[in-house]
Amino acid sequence: MALIERLDNPTQGDNETMAISKELLDILACPKCKGDIHLNPAGDGLICQNCRLLYEIKDDIPIMLIDEARPLDAGA
Ligand SMILES: [Zn+2]
Repeated sequence: MALIERLDNPTQGDNETMAISKELLDILACPKCKGDIHLNPAGDGLICQNCRLLYEIKDDIPIMLIDEARPLDAGA
């Protein structure tokens, strides 16, 4: 599995929101069910609706590990 290298740019100000590209989302899949995932509204996590799990994005790198995923809590 290839790791995505961390960008080493200085802060760019207006390039913060679109950290994860559409192309990257197309490549990524839920490690549990291999299904589609999508960016959450806050843009800091990837959601698998099948598993009801949220994979966090840290330093622009999605943490695609089942052990690291947080369950979506619909009943909150
Ligand atoms: Zn899944």
